[in-house]
Amino acid sequence: MIPKTMKAALAESAASPLVIREVATPAPTRGQLLVRLESCGVCHSDLHLRNGDEYLPDEMYPLILGHEGIGRIVAIGEGTETKLSIGDRVGLPWLYDTCLDCSPCLTGAETFCQHQHARGIHRPGAFAEYALLEQRFACTIPDEINPLQGAPLLCAGLTAWSALRKTQLRPGKTVMVVGCGGLGQYAIMIAKAHGASVVAVDRDPAKLEEARRRGADHLIEAGPEAGLKVKALGGADIAVNFAPTPAVWSTIEQAVNPMSDIIAIALVHDPVPLSMMWLIDGGHCVFGSSVGTRQDLRDFLAFAARHPLSIDIETIALEGVDDALDRLRAGTIAGRVCIDFSL
Ligand SMILES: [Zn+2]
Ligand SMILES: [Zn+2]
Repeated sequence: MIPKTMKAALAESAASPLVIREVATPAPTRGQLLVRLESCGVCHSDLHLRNGDEYLPDEMYPLILGHEGIGRIVAIGEGTETKLSIGDRVGLPWLYDTCLDCSPCLTGAETFCQHQHARGIHRPGAFAEYALLEQRFACTIPDEINPLQGAPLLCAGLTAWSALRKTQLRPGKTVMVVGCGGLGQYAIMIAKAHGASVVAVDRDPAKLEEARRRGADHLIEAGPEAGLKVKALGGADIAVNFAPTPAVWSTIEQAVNPMSDIIAIALVHDPVPLSMMWLIDGGHCVFGSSVGTRQDLRDFLAFAARHPLSIDIETIALEGVDDALDRLRAGTIAGRVCIDFSL
């Protein structure tokens, strides 16, 4: 029996703490699946949204955040055609749905669809006992993946995977990972699994130590000399930026080899001084990447089932999510925090 109401962590207005409320359990309509959550990771984007950094209009509240959910299908909307069945374990990532009809959607780049809906912003998220999933955006979670270890794969891991997938990553290349929080740690493990050498850059010695544990070959403390130090080690062929500050640009510029791939992932709003002459002389390729497509997610989960990507996961009950966001802001979480709905 599906209960009429469920527990959810609600953002009732911008920049207010999340509060636990009893709300109506959503009912799936045609094309939708209802999922009972087992786990949901807590992401930096949730922190930005809770803090009101995204300046959402008042009418979007109350909001249920959360976009790293894993759970089992408990109901299928009437008339829905799907290969999935009740009881299947599925993922609830950031991308809730897209228009399926624009150029990015039709060319395998749906993350750049300008008519997309994000879970936890435009549609209710997974900081709740139940959540809806569009059948066309459903992705099965392989049995090898534990829901608590696996939840952060759906945003943090997928984002790192999708970014690296767009680069020249292959054995022998050197990848510089700037910012070694959760996303950076996944990037290090993915790059190592592809035979690359990894240089980790962070200002926090504890994060560099984490990077070493994940397999980074070289650790460089962030700062004005960081780029030259990376260059002295042979330079970077690929630079991925997870550090949310424009200060990293000079490090990247100094560290990269000719014909490098430079990928922007961290949400840096302030411009950086990019010299077009430097771009021309070096033949660099600079681009942005955001979460991942459905195909990226399938590929990545299949990869993660064969190459367990473990980072330190701290589990909490749904009631602890606001406190976890505070600790995320304070920078005192080494790996990722994950809600365990059985707690
Ligand atoms: Zn996220
Ligand atoms: Zn589209």
